[in-house]
Amino acid sequence: MAKDEVLECSFCGRKKPETDLLIAGLDAHICDKCIEQAHGIVMEEIAENSSSSLTSELIVKKPLEIKEFIDQYMIGQDQAKRVMSVAVYNHYKRLLQPNTKDEDDVEIEKSNIILVGETGTGKTLIARTIARMLNVPFCIVDATVLTEAGYVGEDVETILTRLLQAADYDVTKAERGIVFIDEIDKIARKGDNPSITRDVSGEGVQQALLKLLEGAVVNVPPKGGRKHPDQKFIEVNTKDILFIAGGAFSGIDKLIGKRLNRQAVGYSASIKVDKVDEDNLLQYIIPSDLKTFGLIPEIIGRLPALTHMNPLDAETLRAILTEPKNSIIKQYQKLFKMDGIEFSINEKALKYIVDKAVEYKLGARGLRSLCEAILTDAMFELPGTDETELKVTEKYADNKIRKSTLKKLKAVS
Ligand code: ADP
Repeated sequence: MAKDEVLECSFCGRKKPETDLLIAGLDAHICDKCIEQAHGIVMEEIAENSSSSLTSELIVKKPLEIKEFIDQYMIGQDQAKRVMSVAVYNHYKRLLQPNTKDEDDVEIEKSNIILVGETGTGKTLIARTIARMLNVPFCIVDATVLTEAGYVGEDVETILTRLLQAADYDVTKAERGIVFIDEIDKIARKGDNPSITRDVSGEGVQQALLKLLEGAVVNVPPKGGRKHPDQKFIEVNTKDILFIAGGAFSGIDKLIGKRLNRQAVGYSASIKVDKVDEDNLLQYIIPSDLKTFGLIPEIIGRLPALTHMNPLDAETLRAILTEPKNSIIKQYQKLFKMDGIEFSINEKALKYIVDKAVEYKLGARGLRSLCEAILTDAMFELPGTDETELKVTEKYADNKIRKSTLKKLKAVS
């Protein structure tokens, strides 16, 4: 190159004086403007690839693997685990289906889920555990706060605000996320008959929710609520969002029982269930029971995967104490270890805790309250002393429980 020749950008041809910066490569130069432009192209490309790599990673986990993952954190509830694993797997498959229609014209529709089970049987746990494993945004919302637009409470659209937040406001990501709607039974209308009077927290909310479940473009207030009236709405398409609804549906077991009795004496007696397990009527739940309870048929139709959680028996409660990956006992062991204390609890003491949980009808939730009641004194007194060991026996546990106010424990249920 001649000495007086002016250097120029090999991409856009700008002469060096016209640029702010010109970087030299082996045989070429690039100016600041071209670098910026190239950077923009790279970023766009990364964004596009990340959504496609997102979906290619998704398919890796088969239903069996999903279930095995949940098994590490959750005891029993096999039926629910299977239904959830399949639903999540199919959700991924849906995300993978190309936008352009196949020759066969078959489009996989989403299969939202409804989980019915008493409180404390692990509905939230199963949803949270699945969220741990996923690489799609996930959020848990409470249906009790939802009201029809214009009434005190949250509009249904705020459900999507939460999902947007979970997706760091990346709309494309949010549009393939999973939403867990807790306490869906609380928006059931009171009674089976459509009421003439307005049912602010019931049917109206169900109607509003329906739009989301069906798949629609919804205007979402990014910050939620009505406290920010001037915020700009973000459009979110719910077509590919998987909804999992959960609820205790308190009293639905009696409705199921009644239906089973009717079947047993009616014309359909020939198809009656062999021997009804009166202690776990939820296992016989069918969509029409949800209708009798007060969900509108359209909502039930949009939650086609119906499954139940079994009540927790003593054996399951015992396993919950020690077996899951982050079981309650393991958590206490870790807490004590941080103070240099070896914590152990014998089998009889564990059985005692389970018996108390059953006696007070506290379920799995009560296991933690009981452990707290037993261990609070030790957690208060031992740190900072020379003590290196804490062995909890049945007698120790019983002493502490007697000291703690039983009323307090009962209040948990
Ligand atoms: P729900 O949402 O049905 O009311 P949760 O999922 O909140 O119940 O369960 C309450 C607690 O009980 C959870 O934090 C969990 O530790 C425990 N639990 C419930 N069921 C199980 C289970 N099957 N395996 C392990 N832990 C469980």
